[in-house]
Amino acid sequence: MDKIVFATNNEHKLREIRAILRDEIEVFSLADIDCHADIAETADTLEGNALIKARFVYDNYGMNCFADDTGLEVDALNGAPGVHTARYAGENHDTEANMRKLLHEMNGKDNRKARFRTAIALILGGEEHLFSGEVQGEISTEPRGEQGFGYDPVFIPDGTAKTFAELGEEAKNRISHRARAVKKLADFLNSQASITD
Ligand code: IMP
Repeated sequence: MDKIVFATNNEHKLREIRAILRDEIEVFSLADIDCHADIAETADTLEGNALIKARFVYDNYGMNCFADDTGLEVDALNGAPGVHTARYAGENHDTEANMRKLLHEMNGKDNRKARFRTAIALILGGEEHLFSGEVQGEISTEPRGEQGFGYDPVFIPDGTAKTFAELGEEAKNRISHRARAVKKLADFLNSQASITD
């Protein structure tokens, strides 16, 4: 069995990747390897933060690893909140406050174009690889929908009038930033004869 760590404890993300990786690849979470460190994401790019997390695991646990980081990039806000997406309204990562702040900043703005972007950093046998996925859309004028998480109620992907929170998990997962990045990672890992060091 090939082993790899996904530097997360998010069950949803773990389920998603396990479902599309070939059966011979066993995916461990941070908890599975007994890693309880609070890894500071101090880079100024999504790729940089994903690399920090992947390198932390590779350097301290000697295991192949990948890590992800996602940001919402809004054109009228010069790409903000970007790398600060999780803590836009403060360090307590309050989703409601983050969305309120975003809608406030967008008040009166005609250009509401935005995209979600996910970067994934993989370290395999000491070599670093980067993958990314994005979905284009726009910021709604008010939150709509009950499903999903984070900024889903205020993000309308191109090609529909519904927010991610109105679309639901299945439709979202067909087009989402993370699904697209994860698919590229999975295609790469699945094409490797073996992923042991
Ligand atoms: P993370 O890098 O996956 O932890 O994501 C950083 C932040 O981006 C999260 O705290 C969420 O607020 C936001 N985010 C990430 N993915 C999504 C998504 O699919 N929908 C809405 N918000 C998201």
